[in-house]
Amino acid sequence: AAAPDLLLGRIRDIPDFPKPGILFKDITPLLNDPAALAATVAGLAEPFRDAGVDHVVGLEARGFIFGAPVALALGAGFVPARKAGKLPAAVIEQPYDLEYGTATVEIHADAVTEGSRVLIVDDVLATGGTGRAAVDLVRKAGGTVVGFSVLMELTALGGRERLSDVEPHALLSV
Ligand code: IMP
Repeated sequence: AAAPDLLLGRIRDIPDFPKPGILFKDITPLLNDPAALAATVAGLAEPFRDAGVDHVVGLEARGFIFGAPVALALGAGFVPARKAGKLPAAVIEQPYDLEYGTATVEIHADAVTEGSRVLIVDDVLATGGTGRAAVDLVRKAGGTVVGFSVLMELTALGGRERLSDVEPHALLSV
């Protein structure tokens, strides 16, 4: 497993982004460091090597960056889960609540087949709202969620509790 400091040292805090009062975790320095990038991809995939994963679902947008190499590492296909209106073919959708208003996450209706085994990948687990919607979406499509793998969880925001049925795997907990 990667030394946590290798990863933590490549994530920077950006105050007041995207809105005043939010402390944003910026992972772009980690992406630009070959050792940290390789360790992250390996760490996200590692617990699921023998889980029989058929599809990795990556959450827009940073979940795409990690999800595709994790899929390669596991011999799985990659499925993008996108915000409403971005995917060109027929979709299955799952709405979820935001602090103000609602959002929708979508996958192509034919992407996850009945009974297939799915690992969901993202960069950061915060409140768990996005992850919860993704899990419910995969199940709606007939898939079995075998895990939820993230680089970093922000423990104070309670995402793990909202995803207790999938027990998220996080490389870093802050
Ligand atoms: P949640 O739905 O509150 O758990 O937020 C998780 C989603 O928002 C993920 O798709 C993350 O990419 C994004 N996100 C939330 N906070 C941060 C952050 O501090 N840095 C990077 N992404 C974040």
